[in-house]
Amino acid sequence: MTEGALHLPADLAAAVRAAGHLVVLTGAGMSAESGVPVFRGQGGLWEGFRPEDLATPQAFGRDPERVWRWYRWRLDRVREAQPHAGHRALAALERDGGFERFTLVTQNVDAMHQRAGNRSVIELHGTITRAHCEAGCGRTAEAHEVDPAAALCACGRGRLRPSVVWFGESLPADAMDEAAEALEQADMAWVVGTSSVVYPAAALPGIAARRGVPVVEVNPEETPLTGQLPYSLRSSASAGLVALARARLGEREF
Ligand code: NAD
Repeated sequence: MTEGALHLPADLAAAVRAAGHLVVLTGAGMSAESGVPVFRGQGGLWEGFRPEDLATPQAFGRDPERVWRWYRWRLDRVREAQPHAGHRALAALERDGGFERFTLVTQNVDAMHQRAGNRSVIELHGTITRAHCEAGCGRTAEAHEVDPAAALCACGRGRLRPSVVWFGESLPADAMDEAAEALEQADMAWVVGTSSVVYPAAALPGIAARRGVPVVEVNPEETPLTGQLPYSLRSSASAGLVALARARLGEREF
């Protein structure tokens, strides 16, 4: 069996062909097959710390060097990783899918969708590829150029911090509004590789599902969302997305 051999129900394939505005939501499971570890599962620990103990403003306040070393380790994993067939399928859909509107909303901070070629990506949780001044002076930097031991901003008023949303912080309001607006307008949504437990992102699929729009989950595991959706593919992101993309684009390799 090849990756694309997943069989879609006929009514789901028809809905994919008919969609005018598609919204795709992705989470950490989207990048798992590229070798970027998810938080909840194997490979989620770093030097014995849980992400919840590192990805917080308090952790950064206590020990910025340790937090930066963790981000630099994650960034190295991301830079070694390559987009997989599922990422490429999403890039092909945006480019060739003929949608009136295509919106990709990600909780991932690894910028893998942009590397695969997607253009309109809403990053709900920011990106580990960049840093900015915690004092709000507006200075930014490439994260790989930040020295974990001396991450002071040139303004002298604060440190450079990773440009991600930490536990306990609000999501960027414009990104969240844009994502919610897209789901209010969408006539189909796909939810790929997210445990659907991290709020407020986990509330987004419900916006479309409540309107009776076909929403499809792609996840090898059941999630709290599964029972609320009309379609759920128990598959990896790559196999699920290749099958969905082929329903729209015809048989092709990604
Ligand atoms: P999560 O770690 O809570 O859940 C990952 C989900 O992916 C699980 O439901 C799991 O069953 C599923 N999964 C595992 N392998 C998969 C595969 N091959 N294909 C499809 N699904 C697969 O992730 P989350 O819900 O995105 O929430 C965690 C938060 O942590 C995110 O908001 C994100 O900001 C951050 N995070 C990001 C990255 C990244 O950027 N790659 C990695 C880890 C965590």
